[in-house]
Amino acid sequence: RADAAMQHAKDSGRGNRQFYATSMEASALDVLHQERLLRDAIAHNDFVLHYQPQIGLADGTLQGLEALVRWRHPERGLVGPDEFITFSESRGLITPIGRWVMREACRQLKAWQDQGLARVPVAVNLSALEFRQRDVAAEIAAVLQETGLAPQYLEIELTESVLMHQTGQTLNTLHAVKALGVGISIDDFGTGYSSLAYLKRYPIDKLKIDRSFVTDIPDKADDVAIVTAIIQMARSLQLKTVAEGVETQGQIELLTELGCDVIQGFVVAVPMDAQATGSWLQR
Ligand code: C2E
Ligand code: MG
Ligand code: MG
Ligand code: MG
Repeated sequence: RADAAMQHAKDSGRGNRQFYATSMEASALDVLHQERLLRDAIAHNDFVLHYQPQIGLADGTLQGLEALVRWRHPERGLVGPDEFITFSESRGLITPIGRWVMREACRQLKAWQDQGLARVPVAVNLSALEFRQRDVAAEIAAVLQETGLAPQYLEIELTESVLMHQTGQTLNTLHAVKALGVGISIDDFGTGYSSLAYLKRYPIDKLKIDRSFVTDIPDKADDVAIVTAIIQMARSLQLKTVAEGVETQGQIELLTELGCDVIQGFVVAVPMDAQATGSWLQR
């Protein structure tokens, strides 16, 4: 919309100034409106978690479930995280959302365990900002205590941007999380500033190979080379690999051949709400 507004302003020549002022006011109002809706959503927990299964390539068994947040937006229906996580961060509203996600994921997994479903971990995403702002280890310890979930059934997914801040703080927090018995995965691996040194220095368990490298295998030689290299490197560092966004049988075949451990993607299942996930787990 900003592009369209800019083009319109250029096209209409002289009236630019006026047009601009008006369109900027409108967008500021929209930001305020969205912020108000988001605050309401936080007050009422108007979020839901969807869960996407992760499957072991060796034996086809369930290895984990990733929790993915959605906002029950009063005007737009279910809104995905790409549309509000960054916005929430910019308005200083990410912390309560992230806390809700962590608690809800642990509560739900414990409920499934009590029903004899899901003997696998749930993975929760934490943005770099959340990781810096929150006392993640203490919060996790409290949530595990409160929900009764055993620590080996929780994993956190962090992007490489977390590791780039090479502060003692980052290292301490990661070690504290690890000491609890909680797993640590690097999400979207290969899209940030990957470095063997980070992987060696930090107590990481899994690399999640970004979907952008998986999409065009086995056809694109470059992507095949990249995925091969990531899997080999992960193996020699004793890290597990998860391929993200797997959609085809051809991808599964190559990933199996390369020794990838786990796949996640539409070929297995799309992210499902808690009820659908429960039924899926029963089958
Ligand atoms: P992500 O952690 O890399 O999650 C995978 C994303 O890929 C999900 O999008 C999922 O629906 C999508 N996906 C899974 N399989 C396939 C596939 O086969 N093909 C395609 N095209 N897409 C697939 P989603 O749910 O929209 O989440 C987007 C991103 O938002 C996530 O990427 C994650 O970075 C972030 N996110 C999600 N939940 C949370 C959360 O609770 N907190 C934070 N901080 N970030 C979250
Ligand atoms: Mg993730
Ligand atoms: Mg990812
Ligand atoms: Mg992503």
